[in-house]
Amino acid sequence: MTGWTYHPELLATPVPRYTSYPTAAEFSPAVGRSDMEAALDGIALDQQLSLYVHIPYCHEICWYCGCNTGAANRTQRLATYLETLEAEIGLVSKRLAGRGKVRRISFGGGSPNAIAPDQFAKLLTSLRWAFDAHDALLSIELDPRSLSDPWFDAIAAASIERASLGVQTLEPAVQRAIGRLQPFRLIETCVEKLRRAGVRSLNFDLMYGLPHQGLDELERTLHATIALRPERIALFGYAHVPHLIARQRQIDGSALPDAEQRFGQAELGHRLLVAAGYEPIGFDHFALPDDPIAIAAEEGRLKRNFQGFTDDQAEVLIGLGASAISQFPHLIVQNEKNAGRYKVRVSSGLLPTDCGVVRTEEDRRRGRIIEQLLCSGKAELGGLCDQHMLERLRPFLDRGLATLEGRRLRLPDFGRPYARAIASLFDSYRQPASRRFSSAI
Ligand code: SF4
Repeated sequence: MTGWTYHPELLATPVPRYTSYPTAAEFSPAVGRSDMEAALDGIALDQQLSLYVHIPYCHEICWYCGCNTGAANRTQRLATYLETLEAEIGLVSKRLAGRGKVRRISFGGGSPNAIAPDQFAKLLTSLRWAFDAHDALLSIELDPRSLSDPWFDAIAAASIERASLGVQTLEPAVQRAIGRLQPFRLIETCVEKLRRAGVRSLNFDLMYGLPHQGLDELERTLHATIALRPERIALFGYAHVPHLIARQRQIDGSALPDAEQRFGQAELGHRLLVAAGYEPIGFDHFALPDDPIAIAAEEGRLKRNFQGFTDDQAEVLIGLGASAISQFPHLIVQNEKNAGRYKVRVSSGLLPTDCGVVRTEEDRRRGRIIEQLLCSGKAELGGLCDQHMLERLRPFLDRGLATLEGRRLRLPDFGRPYARAIASLFDSYRQPASRRFSSAI
């Protein structure tokens, strides 16, 4: 395998992560509840649906976190939120009136385990009855620091097959620098208990580009992770944007690795994980070859949605909870982010849709190319393969980071770190000077 080469000029412009196209930066308040209602009304009887349920609370808030989450320090606040969530579930299922088949339910946040296990069991029962989703595949994001023993029983009782653990780093000094302390033994015990509870596909979220994190620190975390053998590993680059995310101001910006060091860390992660038997998935995920996401990638079925790379084939994802995003082929909408305003809307019997974007035919065409480039490293450009596009692609083509055969664009394996930058060339909304997005590596 050819190694990665650092071309800083090609990574200088911040680009979106493209968990959707158009991205959330294009959401407008002009798109809202009536669009969501019409989209739900248009769902066919047998349409496959996925649900995403957002729990925007955590027991401890990590300094680096860009999620919509708050402290789970008041029992009444959580109980009120869950009551509202149940009411929203009722509103959506009433609108669907039995149409659609829910095949998957994902719980994310925040930390779904910020609520009590019995609250989770009740929520799951409501979802299963409201959407006739008794056979749905279940997945959940978990914070190992607040995973009590009753939670493992709840996971076993619910037959949750997939879980994702927020690990980030196993280095104590780096953990201190990001406000997230969790000893290796805690992670190891969680893995053992999740296995016993029946979780078959376990993901670790890891990060590079953290303060006081060098290649040695990252390598030790990767080796310890590999020893625990999670089926999936997501290795994200930390995006330091304290002007946008106030809690990141607690992080010492002077201790962060620079762009070239970040590139080296991403390369190290790729090299070590591939050598340990993991398949690279998209630009920042890795999976053991027999995991469903690796099989989907192998068979060209890998997709990208708000949860990242996925083997989920459903074209409709309904988001429930404050800030949750719903995705339809022609529409993307987001719920009210603020938990208080979310409650006010739902309490008045209205869907809490707050903003969104209507996907035009042109958006869908560009979105398909972006998704294909990120998921499989190749895309048929069709009519977008014109002189203007060739000029924009030229820096990547000249360096061998992409090849063009007719109108088919391909990224070689060593072109992965440039995938987002190349995909962004097909984004007609992108502002080249924007500071809203994270570094491309
Ligand atoms: S546990 Fe996860 S969601 Fe909660 S603050 Fe930490 S990183 Fe953010």
